[in-house]
Amino acid sequence: MAILGASGSIGTSTLEVLEGLGAERNEFEVVLLAAHRSVDPLLAAARRHGCRAIAWTGFDDASGIVGELPPECRVFCGADAILEALDATEPDVVLNGITGAAGLAASAWTLRHGKPLLLANKESLVVAGPLLTELARVHGAPILPVDSEHAAIHQCLRGERRQDLRKIWLTASGGPFRDKRASELPGVSVREALAHPTWNMGPRISIGSATLMNKTFEVLEAHHLFDLAPEEIDVVVHRQSIVHSMVGFRDGSILAQLGVPDMRLPIAYCLGYPKRLAFDFEGYDPMAFAKLTFEAPDPERFPALRLGWRCIELGGNAGAVLNAADEVATAAFLDGRIRFPRIATIVEEVLEAFDIEPLESLDHVFDTDRRARDAARNRLLETVA
Ligand code: MG
Repeated sequence: MAILGASGSIGTSTLEVLEGLGAERNEFEVVLLAAHRSVDPLLAAARRHGCRAIAWTGFDDASGIVGELPPECRVFCGADAILEALDATEPDVVLNGITGAAGLAASAWTLRHGKPLLLANKESLVVAGPLLTELARVHGAPILPVDSEHAAIHQCLRGERRQDLRKIWLTASGGPFRDKRASELPGVSVREALAHPTWNMGPRISIGSATLMNKTFEVLEAHHLFDLAPEEIDVVVHRQSIVHSMVGFRDGSILAQLGVPDMRLPIAYCLGYPKRLAFDFEGYDPMAFAKLTFEAPDPERFPALRLGWRCIELGGNAGAVLNAADEVATAAFLDGRIRFPRIATIVEEVLEAFDIEPLESLDHVFDTDRRARDAARNRLLETVA
């Protein structure tokens, strides 16, 4: 298998799952690790796993560190490093844990080669959902969602018929500001926004969890993965992050998947699918943690949430606009250039002003991405001015 985004939170957790397996560890061989600029953790993992290749997209040249590589390990550098390394190693399975739209090309490569895609890079589906699901269908390549909510839904749907599904509920922790008043949100700091109550994640997704933009992405992700109409998707705030999502059926039954909030759980599910891997988790104990609560999200305080359904309605390249504008606005907030509530309003303004077009190709996605970033930067300039 290949692990892309190997030094990030998903990549690191994936390596932990593999290294924590018993005899089943022999069923997995990591041939390729890819990261942007992380060096030491990648070299250490490549040596532990005897990888055949490492890809660094953030370096033009790695001649200075080649000496520390495991023997027989090839190095690929530059913008196309991941695709070149995938071509060279031809893994049977790809785990895509890259952050942002940069993960799209690798998702497309995987599906085009008919390989299972273990997808943690939700932006792939947000920006290019129709193209990727079509590639998956044509090449018979499964997309297994590593995102905990979608892994939950995937589990609840096993053995069920599509026509028996009534709706799904994506659970949301509510993020660090779930108890703040709207009037307090302009004053929140970057540090407060990064302090997620239940999940430990990278900066972009942590900010996305504070704005609920991450949940909006997950609405779109669910729409593409499970072919759901807008009215078949709902979001419920569940503070404990134990129920990872739920599916309601037409007979009134609801199935939910439960577990501790630990990404190693959905990662192990995807690695093992269709079987279950033995992994030594300290699991969810209903006796010790008996209270589970559910509440409606507040659209006034979290205006980003409605944009997911809006993007399904708009279709075409709307998801690519959403993602690009959010990347720019989130970076501006992290740099202290805008206040927290401005993230969602910039994204919404860019989305509503954009000329939405039917999605034609990956190049069209990249072109949309560039134009939406420019539009978001222009909004930023107006904000500062
Ligand atoms: Mg999630």
